[in-house]
Amino acid sequence: MPYDPERFHPERLAAALADPDRLDVLHRTGMLDGTPEESFDRWAALAARALRTPVALVSLFDEQRQYLKSIIGFDGAVPTNRTIAPELGICQYVISGSAPLAVDDAREHPELGEIRGPRGLGLHAYAGTPICVDGQAIGSLCVAQHDPRQWQGEDLEMLADFAEAIASEISLRIAAMDLQRANTVVEDHNRIHELIAADAPLEDVLREVVLSIENFDPRLRGSVLLLDPVLRTIHHGAAPSLPASYIAQIEGLVIGPDVGSCGAAAYHGTEIVSGDLELDPKWATFLPLTREHELRHCWSFPVLGAAGDVLGTFGVYGSEPRTPTEQHRGFLRDAARLAGIAIERQRATEELVHRATHDPLTGLPNRTLLFDRLTHALARARRSGTTLSVLFVDLDRLKLVNDTLGHDVGDEVLRDVAERIAGSVRPGDTVARFGGDEFIVVAEDIEPDDAAMIAERIVGAVAEAVPGGADGLSPTASVGMTVIVGGDVDAHEAVRRADEAMYAAKDEGGNRHRRGFADGDGAGRRLEVEAALRGALDRGEFHLVAQPLAEFNSQKIVGVEALLRWTHPALGPVGPDEFIPIAEETGYIDALGAWVLRESCAATVAVTRATGRPLELGVNVSPRQLRHPAFLAALEGALEDSGLPASALIVEITETALLGSDPATAHAIAELRGLGARLVLDDFGTGFSSLSMLKERPIDGIKIDRSFVAGLPSDASSGAIVAAVVGMAHALGRTVTAEGIETSEQLAFLQALGCDLAQGYLLGRPMPFAQLANVLAPDTPERA
Ligand code: C2E
Ligand code: CA
Ligand code: CA
Repeated sequence: MPYDPERFHPERLAAALADPDRLDVLHRTGMLDGTPEESFDRWAALAARALRTPVALVSLFDEQRQYLKSIIGFDGAVPTNRTIAPELGICQYVISGSAPLAVDDAREHPELGEIRGPRGLGLHAYAGTPICVDGQAIGSLCVAQHDPRQWQGEDLEMLADFAEAIASEISLRIAAMDLQRANTVVEDHNRIHELIAADAPLEDVLREVVLSIENFDPRLRGSVLLLDPVLRTIHHGAAPSLPASYIAQIEGLVIGPDVGSCGAAAYHGTEIVSGDLELDPKWATFLPLTREHELRHCWSFPVLGAAGDVLGTFGVYGSEPRTPTEQHRGFLRDAARLAGIAIERQRATEELVHRATHDPLTGLPNRTLLFDRLTHALARARRSGTTLSVLFVDLDRLKLVNDTLGHDVGDEVLRDVAERIAGSVRPGDTVARFGGDEFIVVAEDIEPDDAAMIAERIVGAVAEAVPGGADGLSPTASVGMTVIVGGDVDAHEAVRRADEAMYAAKDEGGNRHRRGFADGDGAGRRLEVEAALRGALDRGEFHLVAQPLAEFNSQKIVGVEALLRWTHPALGPVGPDEFIPIAEETGYIDALGAWVLRESCAATVAVTRATGRPLELGVNVSPRQLRHPAFLAALEGALEDSGLPASALIVEITETALLGSDPATAHAIAELRGLGARLVLDDFGTGFSSLSMLKERPIDGIKIDRSFVAGLPSDASSGAIVAAVVGMAHALGRTVTAEGIETSEQLAFLQALGCDLAQGYLLGRPMPFAQLANVLAPDTPERA
């Protein structure tokens, strides 16, 4: 009778038990547990009766276990979970052959020893036949009896018929379960379509796609990888059931024919099935990784766009060698298609959003997005009390480039400049294109000094931009910055302030940055003053005082120096030493300085009219103010409107105004002297290059700084310096004013040196112009 010793060969047995196709069918039965199958009892009982044996068994086998699904007439001990190690029985050898296995008398087969299995029960005759589903032997039906028996062909045929009946029943069950799972997949996919239509986040959609496959076949673990079409790298899309460390290891791999199944599927754009990673050269370099995570197979399906372009891959892994069934392939293709639809839809939406919020020429955020980001940034600054800076960048000569070199070159310049600006800011800062040649930078949580540094970097970077090889037409930028502390302004106001500061930069000739007013909410004193300064002129918070200038010898008052005073309603009086530098930095000095010129000229003329005494007028002009293109017009206007003769006007500047060789400064000096006004160097002796300047620059006189006067007459070095300076100035034909004279000793000392004009508390404190009449009154008759 059929007895094939070969089927007892251990390797053959192991191979048969581990056959992946066999296991696949077995798993699809869903019956791999200790639950008895009562419907099989009927067949087992029939088999026992038909073959007149006391014992019949129906078993299923996976690699490790024998599952006893139906037990008839067996007196041996059966574990409660009804599973046993297969080597305890003979039934496993049924699996390793395709024909029935019959043992007439186990005692005649020494290789069996005593018949294994129902050991001790004396079951010596055994006949078993495989239960085959889809061509795979997944289990056995056997009968056994105590007495030896010569099995007949028809016995075994009968046994095979019963096995087939059981197999049919299992097939039906698999079909029903497959149908149910397939229905679930279809339902899942319908739901996913709805998610896609509702623009759910891509990651969520992809996750659902993966889960639908994992639900369909719980032994699979899926992953969607997204292809970066430019870099040709793959990136995590969704993999809810794969270990994070595995995902991290394959993140960013460059695709290629040998880069695992997914790398190859993305590379070729075709399905790449690897049934056993251990045997697949594409996986050779990844084996340590896949072994670590117990991944043994990977089937990868390309995720394709509507145009057939590869968007990514849909890969499924499992822990045993395995190849997909046709049904697997069908569902995986569907899943990959769904993933493709989701990815394309998301890219299309992103593209739309991007187009609505970005400038097509430079790719930078546009005005819409800028205001959105700025509004949020201001809200954050308000919540956290942090400082935020807005920089307004305007190109100085883009129109010239457009007009002379054409708009294509202009566009090129804009793109180049956009990159340069973006390269000058910190990583989190927003750079937006605001308009034609205007850009805006929003820098959150930043110190004013750092913002100024960014502004300087931008100015420098833009100046290095070279348009289409055209010499002399490279653009420069004017940058206005505003600092907002605690953000209690809206986005439009913030931009307006930066814009205003930008105009200040432009006014000075461009290629520089200027700082606008800060919003001083809760800021330090400096920012507070800066904020308070805004609009102070319009609110009429300034006034001028006059400090007498007297002739040394006669001590007669021949002029005044106009000094600016500011009283803010909240801050009270703020000294010029504090607010003048701020006004200079913000550009406010231009308007303020023009006002001082107008007011002081008018006030001086009014005093002259009231007293009949002509007076010289000293006005302080800051370096920045002097460079301003509108300075001369303001000066001429002040003289004309008031009627003060130019010869009475003394412009006081500090030597910093004369450092370097700024053409605008030189021009202003030449022009004002051409009008007949005079120029004196204020605070003389405090700088470095004073003496050479005295010789080289077109100045009419100097004012010896009050720090030297303060040491007189006791401090010998002050005395020596003052003496030398006076001698030198006179030798060069310059007049000398000594300021800060508080004592008669100082006055006498300086008089002895031959100084021309005296100024100081001794001779008169700064006072309202209206009070000058009282000081001047006694001398009235002298010069009418
Ligand atoms: P400055 O041009 O050197 O003005 C002289 C300063 O010395 C004034 O201070 C004046 O009050 C002070 N002073 C006069 N006599 C004496 C004295 O005997 N003893 C002492 N200790 N001090 C004396 P003030 O008014 O506080 O002005 C400070 C600075 O502010 C000025 O220095 C000037 O650089 C600037 N400033 C004032 N008004 C204006 C203006 O309208 N425009 C510009 N650009 N700067 C101005
Ligand atoms: Ca002065
Ligand atoms: Ca001075």
